[in-house]
Amino acid sequence: MGYVDDIIKLVAKKNPAEPEFNQAVREVLVSLRAVVDDNEEKYRREGLLERLVEPDRQIKFKVPWVDDKGNVQVNTGYRVQFNNAIGPYKGGIRLHPSVNLSIIKFLGFEQIFKNSLTGLPIGGGKGGSDFDPKSKSDREVLSFCRSFITELYRYIGADVDVPAGDIGTGGREIGYMFGEYKKIKGTYEGVFTGKGLTYGGSLGRTEATGFGLLYLTEEMLKYNGLDIKDKTVTITGSGNVAIYAAVKAEELGAKVVTVSDSNGWIYDPEGIDIAVLKGIKEVRRARLTEYKKYRPNSEYHEGRGVWSVPCDIALPCATQNELSLEDAKALVANGCKAVAEGANMPTTLEATEYLIENGVLFAPGKAANAGGVATSALEMTQNSERLSWTFEEVDSKLKEIMVNIFNNIASNASRYGATNNYVIGANIAGFEKVANAMMAQGIW
Ligand code: NDP
Repeated sequence: MGYVDDIIKLVAKKNPAEPEFNQAVREVLVSLRAVVDDNEEKYRREGLLERLVEPDRQIKFKVPWVDDKGNVQVNTGYRVQFNNAIGPYKGGIRLHPSVNLSIIKFLGFEQIFKNSLTGLPIGGGKGGSDFDPKSKSDREVLSFCRSFITELYRYIGADVDVPAGDIGTGGREIGYMFGEYKKIKGTYEGVFTGKGLTYGGSLGRTEATGFGLLYLTEEMLKYNGLDIKDKTVTITGSGNVAIYAAVKAEELGAKVVTVSDSNGWIYDPEGIDIAVLKGIKEVRRARLTEYKKYRPNSEYHEGRGVWSVPCDIALPCATQNELSLEDAKALVANGCKAVAEGANMPTTLEATEYLIENGVLFAPGKAANAGGVATSALEMTQNSERLSWTFEEVDSKLKEIMVNIFNNIASNASRYGATNNYVIGANIAGFEKVANAMMAQGIW
């Protein structure tokens, strides 16, 4: 048995109750087999993979807060600082009832390679809590965020670990967390990204993940002789990533026909009305059921079902494991040409393999959604320089980064004889830089 299989077994043995983490490790390591086999002796001697799959540290803590009725509520907080070989830990904070250690570890592990792919000096980490900001008042969210930071502040810092948004953590939550950190530490530093524009945030950060997803998708299509213009696009989710993916897709001349939330999904054959969508999700924080009121020709369906809608390009932008083998079969049967992951690990391993085997161009999340963290790193640079760049400057840097990422993953896929397998290309490109930095820095 090779080194890769040994490590997959080791992770399963040491972390038996962490299915998402095991899935992420398996997905990455299997696709690194060629490069690991080529360097097996050296990597084994250095214990490289054993060190790579073990977080530098994981912090789990109590988050007590008081709700509007005066009752004490208790949530669990997490921060997993996975690997800082190439820069300070960097990764979002997820606030969702489903959050547990396995999910935070899978996200932190993926983040190592994603951050490496951006070409910027940032390590991998992730955090979160099982707190659900939906249906909470601003005061309750503030109460939670303050308590969360009362513990987390010890472990983060502008040169140590720089958290950002993720599911459930938007501008409001980042503002509350930054305010509390500043109060406790008495320093004004770029410890969070995704901050408001009046206090160190970067223009273009809100749009970055969705826009970046479309820049990379456009490049992947172009490379394969296709044009995004006039293509039909299906999107899941209706949060930050989904909304700005839809905005850019429409700007590039494609038609977006679906969005979803955790209760149901919209099919709008005339193309999703972005202004209506933004009003529902960004202004009123309401449910998608409202959409039909403004767009009578659209359909609302309860539950899942977006992947049954015929499309040229599918963009999963909600959450992990939301595109199964059955969904992949439906996409292929309906003539889908490309899938690009806006969310983290939205496609199961079996579905990914099926799509690639059937000639669908597949851009994995660690490459396709890296625009968010890349722009976060640009926010860190602006904070260090005490400067603010224009939207156009940030957006053009983002586009350049996404085009570079695509070229990097395409050339690494070809280098290992896996032309057009961008999963292999992304994992190898992300891994080699981190592996070389780890080996240069001794044993830690
Ligand atoms: P948001 O919280 O803004 O939106 C998430 C969307 O997905 C919502 O529409 C939500 O519906 C839906 N959703 C969440 N959980 C589930 C679920 N279990 N089942 C069905 N639908 C669900 O998050 P983001 O848009 O920021 O993040 C979406 C994905 O993109 C995540 O995987 C995240 O890790 C990834 N990502 C985000 C980046 C960013 O910059 N924001 C950067 C890179 C990756 P509802 O409102 O009903 O819960």
